[in-house]
Amino acid sequence: MKYESTRGKTARVTAAEAIKMGIAPDGGLFVPEKKIGLTPEQLSSLQALSYQERAREVLRLFLADFTDEEITRCVYGAYSPDKFESPEIAPVVKLAGQVYLLELWHGPTCAFKDMALQMLPLLLTTSTRKTGENAEIAVLVATSGDTGKAALEGFRDVPGTRIIVFYPDEGVSQIQERQMITQEGNNVHVVAVKGNFDDAQNGVKSIFGNAGFARDLAHHGMKLSSANSINWGRLVPQIIYYISAYLELLNNGEIKEKEPVNVVVPTGNFGNILAAYYAREMGLPFKTLICAANTNNVLTDFINTGLYDRNRAFHKTISPSMDILISSNLERLLYEVTGHAAPQVDDWMAQLRETGRYQVDSQTLAIIREVFWSDFATDQETMETIRDTYQACGYLLDTHTAVGKRVYDKYVAATGDRSTTVIASTASPFKFASSVATAVLGADAVRGRDEFALLDLLSATCGIPVPGGLQDLGSKPVRHLRKVERDGMAAVVRELLGIG
Ligand SMILES: *Cc1c(COP(=O)(O)O)cnc(C)c1O
Repeated sequence: MKYESTRGKTARVTAAEAIKMGIAPDGGLFVPEKKIGLTPEQLSSLQALSYQERAREVLRLFLADFTDEEITRCVYGAYSPDKFESPEIAPVVKLAGQVYLLELWHGPTCAFKDMALQMLPLLLTTSTRKTGENAEIAVLVATSGDTGKAALEGFRDVPGTRIIVFYPDEGVSQIQERQMITQEGNNVHVVAVKGNFDDAQNGVKSIFGNAGFARDLAHHGMKLSSANSINWGRLVPQIIYYISAYLELLNNGEIKEKEPVNVVVPTGNFGNILAAYYAREMGLPFKTLICAANTNNVLTDFINTGLYDRNRAFHKTISPSMDILISSNLERLLYEVTGHAAPQVDDWMAQLRETGRYQVDSQTLAIIREVFWSDFATDQETMETIRDTYQACGYLLDTHTAVGKRVYDKYVAATGDRSTTVIASTASPFKFASSVATAVLGADAVRGRDEFALLDLLSATCGIPVPGGLQDLGSKPVRHLRKVERDGMAAVVRELLGIG
């Protein structure tokens, strides 16, 4: 089983090569050349297994060129008890009625990115070795907040790798920023970029697209790779938890075999919900995939009209990890729903680059709308949802998960569909303490306190301990203070990697 580029101008490669390269040389994203399915028997055989054992079986299907021993090492290295505070790794928790939360934030940085980024460094170094590559891997990351910290934790002190993370100086929360600028490790760099996430991501993409830069790096025995969700090695670990969530519902008698389940995903770069789509394609009985956006609702408009148009105001919201106007992974969905029509995808992506927009044909839109439903939530709706959910269920939602819950409520109101539903819970409420505390306790209780003090206040109010990854943040020494203009990113990478 090989991987091919969504733009069709790259020869097929093995999984190891796809992961090592991150992005295809033609600018496209790697996807499996053919559909990978799970038979009902295979699915039932996973039911009694642990999260790690399920992960092993799923990875075996997608990483056909990896040995069992390599896969086992990656899985147990990533999902170990010293990294994840929950032994179930991704527990499924009942919210109310037939609505469940898939808690994806029990890893070291308290957001769902850990689910993939604890494994990616292992997949990447294994891939490098397997393909006979001797170069040191330099990982460049653009982050809207959570990816950066999760990638830093994943790659810190991993031999043969270095990592540079760029974050938008005004686009991340105080806690997210502090998590990154206090990062320890002998191979890590963190740089603030003046601009928003799309600026940081475009800067990284243009470094990747620069052939001269790659040549200079090669002279110094280095090679670029990406930890952003354009890397297939980020996506494949995410497929696992959707399969596992379904099996947990079955195990607990919450659903019957083959019973349809809706999945709600708070979405930014379209990576997480795309993993749910791949799980659905594998044969999981997922009914509707509900794409929940904040007021940067470019995806909602796309799913409802077929027009993707990034020419719009960029909003800073209280769910900053979803403040994105270019959802890179949508390219993979377009490739799948058009039956691997690379020239068509290539053309849409060219239009996006040149005009900031493209319109898909009505047939493609119809296929997308059979699977996806989308709406968005404003900041005010998000705050109300955090408050109401806490009052009604005693459960604290983070701002991103609250967007998911609110959009789910809109879905039920619009469709009347009350099928069993899993909402992907993408961050610990403590990670966005100031918004969550304001929603639950009111503005007066929060005024004058910084986010670190609010962690303790929130903990005391709700009787939940502050997660390990967020403790003592306020007193950790700051180690990274660099800030650059958008057009200074390439120069700073050269300097940090010592290639002049
Ligand atoms: C990254 C992130 C998202 C968005 O996920 P995508 O895969 O980019 O769609 C949602 N919530 C949180 C907390 C995140 O960190």
